Amino acid sequence: MTRLVVVGSINMDLVTVATRFPAPGETLLGERFLSMHGGKGGNQAVAAARLGAEVHMVGAVGDDAFAQPLGETLAMEGIGCEYLARIPDCSSGTASITVSGGENQIIVVPGANARLTPTHIANASDLIAAADAVLVQMEIPLETVEATLHTAHRQGVPVILNPAPAQTLPVKWLQLARYITPNQHELALLLDADPSADFHELMRRAPCPVVLTRGAEGAWFRDDGEPQHEPGFAVEAVDSTGAGDTFNAALAVFLQEGLATAVRKACAAAALSVTKLGARGGMPRLAEVDALLA
Ligand code: ATP
Repeated sequence: MTRLVVVGSINMDLVTVATRFPAPGETLLGERFLSMHGGKGGNQAVAAARLGAEVHMVGAVGDDAFAQPLGETLAMEGIGCEYLARIPDCSSGTASITVSGGENQIIVVPGANARLTPTHIANASDLIAAADAVLVQMEIPLETVEATLHTAHRQGVPVILNPAPAQTLPVKWLQLARYITPNQHELALLLDADPSADFHELMRRAPCPVVLTRGAEGAWFRDDGEPQHEPGFAVEAVDSTGAGDTFNAALAVFLQEGLATAVRKACAAAALSVTKLGARGGMPRLAEVDALLA
């Protein structure tokens, strides 16, 4: 069983559906409200646990009413939460989303996610040393991402860095990652390149191996040779939210089987994830991935 540490964000998504967006100062009656547990870190941890990995989460929640349910949901998925920090005098991460007529407005408040520090990573150093792989994204402070890369690299543990949301990073950090997993926009930003540049060329220019996601087209991967393509699986897409999170989780879980196999399984898992509503709603179990691949 793969032992995986996920370092990242945990959010409560608060979704209001309305007939239109309110004007400044206006109060409007909405049609529906729902809350969903999210954050790239939490989502990737859940996807990996459903695929059969032993998963431990390094993250932070606040001391508000969302903190306990956010942690409990992760624990119910079988995720180890010993290194889930509870930050006093701080809100949990939230995304307030208003949806109307196919458009949305979103305000993200990082809350406790912004208070996950290099000290939390240092405290989890033994956990990281015992892992087969570490998965980290960029919804936490970049100094904490750097600390994760250094800690794992020092211990010889491979790190998959999912550089989302898109931001620039020092090149020397990228060299500490075993793989980076951007989409084209994220890769262009990392390399300070034109986003419309040929993505094969961007992959060749990257200072470390790349697994590039391309939506329904699947993924491209490059270790040291030429970029190779793994086609996407044909599915009836319902909601692509969380496809990237499922892809990253599966890549980390199956990495020990070799890069080409891991990318194929990640494409299968991510394709299944888009067939159902919600980021976590469609995240498949191992048996479903095996069935698609059979
Ligand atoms: P996000 O962060 O919005 O989830 P992303 O840009 O990081 O997305 P995508 O490239 O959209 O990631 O999707 C990740 C992977 O999910 C793709 O490489 C592909 O394997 C799979 N995937 C996404 N959309 C589809 C689809 N419509 N059909 C089949 N597979 C899909």
